[in-house]
Amino acid sequence: MDSDVIIIGAGVIGCAIAYNLGKAGVKTLVIDKADGVGREASWAGAGVLTSHASTREPYPELCRASLAIYPSLADELKASTRIDIEFIQSGTLSLFFDEEEKDGLIGLAERRIDRGFSAEVLTAEQVWEIEPAVSRSVVGGVRFPEDAQVRNPKLVRALSKGAVLSGARFLLGNPVDGFVREKDRISGVKVNGEIFRGDTIVIAAGCWSGALAKELGVHLPIQPSRGQIVLVDTMPLVLRHTIDGLGVYVVPRSDGKILIGATVEFVGYDKRTTLVGVQQMIEAGTTLIPKLAEMSFTQAWAGLRPHIRNGPCLGKLPGLDNVIIASGHFKNGILLAPITGALISELITTGVPSLSLEPFSPSMN
Ligand SMILES: Cc1cc2nc3c(=O)[nH]c(=O)nc-3n(C[C@H](O)[C@H](O)[C@H](O)COP(=O)(O)OP(=O)(O)OC[C@H]3O[C@@H](n4cnc5c(N)ncnc54)[C@H](O)[C@@H]3O)c2cc1C
Repeated sequence: MDSDVIIIGAGVIGCAIAYNLGKAGVKTLVIDKADGVGREASWAGAGVLTSHASTREPYPELCRASLAIYPSLADELKASTRIDIEFIQSGTLSLFFDEEEKDGLIGLAERRIDRGFSAEVLTAEQVWEIEPAVSRSVVGGVRFPEDAQVRNPKLVRALSKGAVLSGARFLLGNPVDGFVREKDRISGVKVNGEIFRGDTIVIAAGCWSGALAKELGVHLPIQPSRGQIVLVDTMPLVLRHTIDGLGVYVVPRSDGKILIGATVEFVGYDKRTTLVGVQQMIEAGTTLIPKLAEMSFTQAWAGLRPHIRNGPCLGKLPGLDNVIIASGHFKNGILLAPITGALISELITTGVPSLSLEPFSPSMN
């Protein structure tokens, strides 16, 4: 059966695009090599949603626009799919241990305030008042109350279920292993010798997207970046905020477990957890929150983030008017999924996304 749009990849990005296209009445086929949706980076991610304010505009503008969609998306998905994606505005408490870190965080706080967010600079005593479990060696902190978290596996399930409810089809357990080219168009994809035809092809295959673009003659250096996470069982919960410091974040989940993440490693397509990676997370996590050392270790895992310089990469592939790439979201794919889904859907249905995709064009890489 032919489709209007074929999406390669049922991670959070592919599912967010399918969900938005479904709402616009577009017939979509989503194909994934894994047996279920969101089995790769989108499962492994920590689900931290941050109100970014780096100096590299318009990237932080994209992040903020996506964060702004979350509250209504959570309600919408709960009503239509009955899945609670556990969007919680728990806030981030970023800790500093010396004057240099303090200056950096105060600069960040000022930039966030300039962009309409709140930030409170706290003394060590004020930090311990709101988070008594934080280390006694902290010098102070900055609280970012609008930062939030979501349970990413539930988000992917809800987006895919929402897409199915509006007519999308999913072909799982099958890799796309080739394309059908007709002059300057790609008219379909090959899956185990079978051809599926579509008017538009979207590559949302995470860190595997570069290999698919290469088959189409386009060089996109999207690389896997391994992230390792440690999960700890803490009951009762010793934290309210996501704690950020010493290069890690410690995320209290609503089920009483705490995540400590994540390493950033460029080791190819290797999803193993390593003793040194887990050790780094445990050392930094227990230095921030010494009480964690008494808690039970539940699990450690690793996932592969899609990394590309100047990412994410969003838009038409050079020379191929009907192939769109949506990948390279690196550390912020969960955060950026709602806006990516909306903008790619607008690009396909109207040709004019409500935020310019020009700065994220594949030709920038
Ligand atoms: C440890 C860790 C912590 C993270 N923490 C956060 C966080 O706190 N906040 C945040 O916003 N982001 C976070 N991220 C990043 C985020 O998880 C990713 O950016 C995001 O999940 C990328 O989504 P994706 O859909 O592009 O890729 P993926 O989830 O990897 O999905 C790509 C899909 O494409 C499929 N595929 C690949 N090749 C083919 C093919 N040939 N045919 C068919 N299917 C194919 C794969 O099977 C996969 O399902 C984290 C990531 C990691 C690893």
